[in-house]
Amino acid sequence: MRRPRVAAAIAAALLFAAVGVVLALTTPWDPLPGSVPGGEVKPDPKLDFTHAEIARSQAFDSAINPPAYLGLIIGLVAVLVLGLTPLGSRLIGWSTARVRRWPLRVVGAALVLTTVLRLVGLPFDIWSESILRRYGLSTQNWGEWLIDQAKSLAVTWVIWSVALLLLYALMRRFPRYWWTGAAVTGFALVVAVSFIYPVAVEPVFNKFHKLPQGQLRTDLLAMAQRDGVPVKDVLVADASRRTTALNAYVSGFGSTRRIVLYDTLLKSTPPRQIESIIAHELGHAKHKDVLWGTLIGALGVAGAICLLQLLLTSPALRRRAAAGGRLGDPLSVALLLALITVATQIGTPVQNLISRHIEARADAHALDLTRDPVTFTQMQHELSVRNISDLTPNELEYLLWLTHPAGPERIAMARDWARQHHVTEPPPLVQGR
Ligand SMILES: [Zn+2]
Repeated sequence: MRRPRVAAAIAAALLFAAVGVVLALTTPWDPLPGSVPGGEVKPDPKLDFTHAEIARSQAFDSAINPPAYLGLIIGLVAVLVLGLTPLGSRLIGWSTARVRRWPLRVVGAALVLTTVLRLVGLPFDIWSESILRRYGLSTQNWGEWLIDQAKSLAVTWVIWSVALLLLYALMRRFPRYWWTGAAVTGFALVVAVSFIYPVAVEPVFNKFHKLPQGQLRTDLLAMAQRDGVPVKDVLVADASRRTTALNAYVSGFGSTRRIVLYDTLLKSTPPRQIESIIAHELGHAKHKDVLWGTLIGALGVAGAICLLQLLLTSPALRRRAAAGGRLGDPLSVALLLALITVATQIGTPVQNLISRHIEARADAHALDLTRDPVTFTQMQHELSVRNISDLTPNELEYLLWLTHPAGPERIAMARDWARQHHVTEPPPLVQGR
């Protein structure tokens, strides 16, 4: 087993190096290039948010933090206990004792483990959901919420089952070099899922309809045209069944590209602000953020699979997890799940850091396209207030949760942009300052 281990280590190192190179080259480290006349504006929530808005954001933050952190920690502890002690393999052995065929045992193991982990997290999810409801962010009743949880568990189960069946089939057939085929398959799957997700998974949770003919539809399509980003359609998602939060996104590629608006936007958001949001989304499309993200994700998954070969063939780990003597034993599913969860968790802060830069570039694109920092500022204020965003996240919150810069940072950038382009700087939204 020594040769394959050395080869896997070299392959993992090369693939992660490739991830590093693509990240270094494609991340907009300086989203708003050029110097700012008069100096950069410092983010300051007090300029644009009232005392009551700031207090509400802080109260929500301290209410939502305990279930968020506890849920994360307990979830990680649970998956580690299952994967790094004999407990997980015992659970698999016990629950699949009557199953003879290995593929069914693998699927059974995936079902049992993902369900147990979801049940462990459930109290924290209920806790979070009750807070969202108290603050008016969630519009679901508990029945609808539970159905969503069941759907999401089903999606998780299908994805894990397919992935594990492929992995274990390769491991059993090619115990020495399964990881080469698995890395290639993993790469291809990430690319496929990125294309399929908008068509296959989004409709499980939301219904979509065309935005009817009218000024807004015409204006949005005209803006996309002006931006050189062809868009086939503008759709509305029935998100208000679930939430009061505002959002929009652009999905699909080339001829299938469409703009999707949450119906919550159409209720009270002024059309100029909706345009500003869509201009941001067009920025993602223009810079091919999803495509690059997919490539990075696919390389990362391929690298992680090579790393898995090293970890899964470590006698110490297998003994600790009671994962069975041979590679491809369904008893090792718990160990595999733990290793993948830990790897994903380690990757999150890096992903968030990159994402915040990409989001800032999309903001800069929106400003370039609309040349309207005043509306942009009003829109950011509206987004932050409606979604009760954290206005002053701390270091840990940035690392763990923040995929976007905080509202005040985004507004400060709009003022920087206005100074750079000699356009009227957005005045403070809170009067008398
Ligand atoms: Zn964005």
